[in-house]
Amino acid sequence: MDYEAIYRRSIERPEEFWAEEAKAIYWHTPPRQILDYSNPPFRKWFVGGETNLCYNAVDRHVGERGEQLALVAVSSETGVTREVSYAELFREVNAFAAVLKRLEVGRGDRVVIYMPNMAEAVFAMLACARIGAVHSVVFGGFAAHNLALRIDDATPKLLIAADAGCRGGKVIPYKPLVDAACAEAASPPAKVLIVSRGLDAAEPRVEGRDVDYAALREQVGDAQVPVEWLESNEPSYLLYTSGTTGKPKGVQRDVGGYAVAMAQSMRTVFDCAPGQVMFSTSDVGWAVGHSYNVYGPLIGGCTALLYEGLPTTPDAGAWWALCEKYGVRTMFSSPTAIRVLKKHDIGFIRDHDLSRLKYLFLAGEPLDEPTAVWINGALGKPVIDNYWQTETGWPALTLLPGVDMKPVKFGSPGFPNLGYRMKVIDERTGVEVAAGRKGVLVIVPPLPPGCMTTVWNDDARFLQSYFSHFDELLYSSLDWAIRDEEGYTFILGRTDDVINVAGHRLGTREIEEVISGDPGVAEVAVIGVHDELKGQLPVVFVTMRQAPQDPCAVAAELRQRVVRQLGAVARPSRVHIVNALPKTRSGKLLRRSLQALAEQRDPGDLSTLDDPNALEEIRRVLNMPGE
Ligand code: ATP
Ligand code: MG
Repeated sequence: MDYEAIYRRSIERPEEFWAEEAKAIYWHTPPRQILDYSNPPFRKWFVGGETNLCYNAVDRHVGERGEQLALVAVSSETGVTREVSYAELFREVNAFAAVLKRLEVGRGDRVVIYMPNMAEAVFAMLACARIGAVHSVVFGGFAAHNLALRIDDATPKLLIAADAGCRGGKVIPYKPLVDAACAEAASPPAKVLIVSRGLDAAEPRVEGRDVDYAALREQVGDAQVPVEWLESNEPSYLLYTSGTTGKPKGVQRDVGGYAVAMAQSMRTVFDCAPGQVMFSTSDVGWAVGHSYNVYGPLIGGCTALLYEGLPTTPDAGAWWALCEKYGVRTMFSSPTAIRVLKKHDIGFIRDHDLSRLKYLFLAGEPLDEPTAVWINGALGKPVIDNYWQTETGWPALTLLPGVDMKPVKFGSPGFPNLGYRMKVIDERTGVEVAAGRKGVLVIVPPLPPGCMTTVWNDDARFLQSYFSHFDELLYSSLDWAIRDEEGYTFILGRTDDVINVAGHRLGTREIEEVISGDPGVAEVAVIGVHDELKGQLPVVFVTMRQAPQDPCAVAAELRQRVVRQLGAVARPSRVHIVNALPKTRSGKLLRRSLQALAEQRDPGDLSTLDDPNALEEIRRVLNMPGE
């Protein structure tokens, strides 16, 4: 079937289209109405329908594929691999749900989950879904303050925490972080359930608050807990955005719409059928982790491969060895991870039998062309750029190989996904711009199933953050984009990444593109720094693939390159060659902090920083006369 035809149907006759798609999941009670859009931009999908995410992800498959692997949780940190069949998943999720019941968690209660990529994190999520509790997974790399912020927003009845996480062989005990977060929070949870892997021996208990999962697990044995049937629009989970641009927003997801979006995208986007294997290298704390480490593959009856650890442990072939061993069909990762692997020998990829691997999807940040070209060449498989946001929960721009595999165009995540009515509009007039012209990427509501329903407890913020930017009621992605003549969309960066040089508006991303076109460049970040005379000036931070012999010459050449391609107005005022750029654990560049440091301001909350050394180095180079 061709993409254009099916896409058009999804836009022109959404109710008919989604009614058909809804048949892919199990409904305890079928929906009475497909779409209720009586209160724009809020919308309700599959009104009156009753279903359950856990039932669709687990129970439904036990009969037909009980012995099939549902989950393979591999940890290169602990050295443990756990292979879990659907039958075993059913047992473990029921047991976890029984434990939650004992702790008096019920429908509508919030449960914060603070765990790394381990099998029990998946059990915990599904157990919450089973009993109608609203989970909110907080990325294990977040420090106490971040955890406290999320606790106060979600006001959970229970916090489930691992005893520790590991990173690069180093054990990071979670208990001290949990204790600090509970002390800081205004409304800490009454109970903390600790799932121990025996990593943190100290692990002191708080009397009356802390409970040990293993002990309760033993008590509940093979207990089964009935599924709680939820109306399609009840909340299923909350997930906070990364907070790259400010206070994180509690993205609220529904039940029915999300299940349908997961079932559909596994087929149309990820081309992964029941029984096939999907490997997403994301973390359960992120949107991709929710959708394609857990719910998508399981709702699809696939095998989900979950990985804890660095992509380079024990060596840079770790992921490809897993692809070979488990016959991974669809792999999902991020540009950052690929850039890490790019520093290693291509043999780490080529030495593996990847004949069953069909696609590599990459999402989360701009996929620069050199990285895309490199991994595409190394794998010899299509590398599909995926654009989405925590808010959308599933790809908004993508290719759909399960429907119609269009040619990959480097630098573009492709076309609007099914059900996404997207436009690129002029930021001032709100009018759609011509092909090849830059504008703001927007989604014309109603948002398709699977996307956020609101900001948790804050409808006003939902409206204000996303729908208040134009006269017309439009969801603003807050990203710049260009659509070319053939309909491929290119993302040019965030609308707040624009700098103003002597009245000219420049996207920092455009300058970054030019610089990363230099074959010697590994990574680049461009920021605008305040200038008395010109308003702002671009400042470049760059890492090179090999340490340059003459940094001054390299810097001069990079500066010339920008001038040649974008004009003198874009000339970087300084080019700093560094060893590493400051990034969050999810691989997003901390431009905001870079800019603050360059302007001698407070860099803000750095607890999500991946490598503190990177920032120290930035501080150092900023105090030296730049090249
Ligand atoms: P916050 O909204 O709290 O500031 P965030 O936007 O970093 O945090 P996410 O929802 O994780 O949180 O990231 C979504 C953003 O990541 C997109 O809006 C876009 O800027 C960027 N992004 C994601 N995928 C791509 C892609 N394929 N190409 C370019 N940019 C992408
Ligand atoms: Mg965002």
